[in-house]
Amino acid sequence: MAKKVKVNKDLCIGCGLCVSTVPAVFEFGDDGKAQASAGPVSDEGAVDEAIASCPVGAIEEDK
Ligand code: SF4
Repeated sequence: MAKKVKVNKDLCIGCGLCVSTVPAVFEFGDDGKAQASAGPVSDEGAVDEAIASCPVGAIEEDK
């Protein structure tokens, strides 16, 4: 099943790592924090990397 992700904005510090790593999935919201685009993720490997790389662990799988 396709994976979905979301960003926990309470944790996100807006470092931009996920946005630069997987721009197809992550973007900055008006609040300067990252958010995931809606819908299933096409490149799960890249998203897994983003989840692992986020310095504050703010990216979560959305089940
Ligand atoms: S990598 Fe984590 S802290 Fe950095 S912008 Fe993305 S969700 Fe926010």
